[in-house]
Amino acid sequence: MNAITFDRSRAKFPVVEVATSHINGVTLSAGNGGERLPVFSPASEDVIAHLKEADKAEVDAAVRAAREAFDKGPWPRMSTDERKRIMLQIKQKLIEHGDEIAYLETLNAGLTNTYVRGFHVNRMGQNFEFFAEVASQASGDAYLQTKPYLSVVTREPIGVGALIGPWNAPIALCSMKIASCIAFGNTCVLKPSEFTPLSLLRVVEIINSTDIPKGVVNLVNGRGQVTGDALISHPGVDVVSFTGGTTTGRAIASKAGQNLKPVALELGGKSANIIANSANLERALDGALLGIYSNNGQQCLAGSRILVQSKIADEFIAKFIERSKRIVVGDPMDPKTQIGPVCYEGHMKRVLSYVDVAKSEGGELLTGGKRYAGQPKGYYIEPTAVIAKSNTTRVCQEEIFGPFATFLKFDEIDEAISIANASDFGLVGYIWSEHLPTVMKVSQSVRAGTIWVNTPLTRELRAPFGGYKDSGIGRDSAQDCLMFFTEAKTTTIPLQDFPMAKWGA
Ligand code: NAD
Repeated sequence: MNAITFDRSRAKFPVVEVATSHINGVTLSAGNGGERLPVFSPASEDVIAHLKEADKAEVDAAVRAAREAFDKGPWPRMSTDERKRIMLQIKQKLIEHGDEIAYLETLNAGLTNTYVRGFHVNRMGQNFEFFAEVASQASGDAYLQTKPYLSVVTREPIGVGALIGPWNAPIALCSMKIASCIAFGNTCVLKPSEFTPLSLLRVVEIINSTDIPKGVVNLVNGRGQVTGDALISHPGVDVVSFTGGTTTGRAIASKAGQNLKPVALELGGKSANIIANSANLERALDGALLGIYSNNGQQCLAGSRILVQSKIADEFIAKFIERSKRIVVGDPMDPKTQIGPVCYEGHMKRVLSYVDVAKSEGGELLTGGKRYAGQPKGYYIEPTAVIAKSNTTRVCQEEIFGPFATFLKFDEIDEAISIANASDFGLVGYIWSEHLPTVMKVSQSVRAGTIWVNTPLTRELRAPFGGYKDSGIGRDSAQDCLMFFTEAKTTTIPLQDFPMAKWGA
């Protein structure tokens, strides 16, 4: 097998040499100087571009552009129907550029092109349409109980949003942040992960090629400690929306707390995927494989702790191993590939390090556990599964965030529920069973923000999504985003004159 290589002159779509910031409708020129970081292709290990890091002054310029667009610009003042028209225009343009955006996402993040083109690009477009609809249907409240007053509650945009995203699904996750923020009349500054700047820079350029006023959507590129920190510390920011790791989330929440800024945190997970004796085995098997291996295993909502009931455990695990061995690993641009490389070298090493962790804790490696040998270069990992000795082990408690499944066996459903809940995380839970009382017991007892019954990874945009415990604060949904990205204002008007004390008369 020949190594995959990146050749800029033969790239399917243009790839910038230096990814800079995009402020007030303009992508900054790279110029000279500044901190520059290499941007890699995880499929080939080639340096495919550089990132010019936004320093404090550049972040300040981005926040000032967003502030100006919010305080004086037309976006918060325009009719909701006009904003909706522009949001739909954004959707259309993003879909028109879908092949290009998907190419950049695959090149930089290593996600398979089939998955990104078929799913994430459409989700990105849908996010703009969905939140345009939500904003256009939003309404306020009126209170007439206290006579003779009418009190009207309206929701007003909150201001400038600092939006910070991770590398595991850049366009799907960050488009949700942008759309839910701007739909209600806010403006924003997005900071993508320093590992994956390419697709989102193009997305923001395309957004700014529509009728959207300049300064509504800005982007700064750089590392979290530098660019991200400058952004969340900026006094011109009114609200912080963050998706990423739990440790980073804690740091961001404390900083936002000091500045009294509302913060929404979507963090990690170690979700239990419970397979009961009463499950439809074939469907549970399909679901368990998708639940842990799709998106190259890098998803917060992965079913990464697979709990199987004793009667079916041996058969289920044997079939899981057999299927894992047949999964197609390889070039993420190849339509046949099911698992591409993980995002960067340090992450690959971290994921693989859990094989030794599992063994040292008395666990057994069931399949995989190595760098995939079918590609001479790139950060490919064999689909990996271990069986752990107990739920207290690190492989059951820590988010590994790669194509790495951890199995445990259980006897009674109550035991599975206890195991599911013995975790610092609480993002999602899965239950596979054809027995309604079992389904209901699990769905009512597992402490997680979403429970999937006999289905993997189904996001209903209208319904809340978010985590219990260390998996986050706040929810995404039509109603939750409306509440988060707007301020409530009560206006009280007397409907007739009323007696007033005449002080000093
Ligand atoms: P990360 O926390 O390392 O980084 C996320 C973002 O925060 C990046 O843009 C980073 O540059 C920035 N950042 C880091 N330190 C910062 C600081 N001090 N100030 C401001 N910004 C800072 O996470 P990651 O490794 O990019 O992403 C993987 C994590 O994201 C996993 O834990 C995963 O579970 C989580 N995630 C959660 C969800 C969800 O919806 N719950 C979705 C996707 C990913």
